[in-house]
Amino acid sequence: MSRPDAPAPLVLVQALVNTWFGRLAGGGDEGLQTPADLARWCREHGAPVADEAVTATELALALTVREGLRAALARHNDAEQPVDDAALQRLEQVAPELAVHVSFTDGEPELRPRDESPVRRMLASMLAATVPASRDRTWQRLKVCREPRCRAAFYDGSRNGSGVWCSMSACGAAAKQRAFVERRRARNAARRASA
Ligand SMILES: [Zn+2]
Repeated sequence: MSRPDAPAPLVLVQALVNTWFGRLAGGGDEGLQTPADLARWCREHGAPVADEAVTATELALALTVREGLRAALARHNDAEQPVDDAALQRLEQVAPELAVHVSFTDGEPELRPRDESPVRRMLASMLAATVPASRDRTWQRLKVCREPRCRAAFYDGSRNGSGVWCSMSACGAAAKQRAFVERRRARNAARRASA
């Protein structure tokens, strides 16, 4: 079963979080290593940003926002995973730099980014989008995979919203396999102890 993408504009949050996740490469795979990587990512997601327009500070800011969002999304999964409080705190510290204002020009009041820099605008509108998404309960369905080596963001479109893995066939199956091996090991240990 493959999972649907999050609805727009939340899909952007999902895409940002998934510029890093662990499953594909053993130690994790960082998609945003340089400011030019971030510029390319912005272009791929609809914001025309030149490579040289992104600063190292903005890259660091984007990574802080990404990991803070990952920590926030982990809360939508299960309480077994400790929430990364330090990452949430770092997001809390930088969020005031990402200014938004209330705009009424499109009828409904809307939070709009205020910054000049396209990267900051993009990050600000991503954070602003989580507020209405939380009200319509789509935010709560955007989750981080329970598998510690994966931690990819996925959208839980299941009827009862009980999904915990990004993919049953990959992370779900790996977790079940580990649980099976664990149970067998415990059984064998018990057998040896009683022999
Ligand atoms: Zn996963």
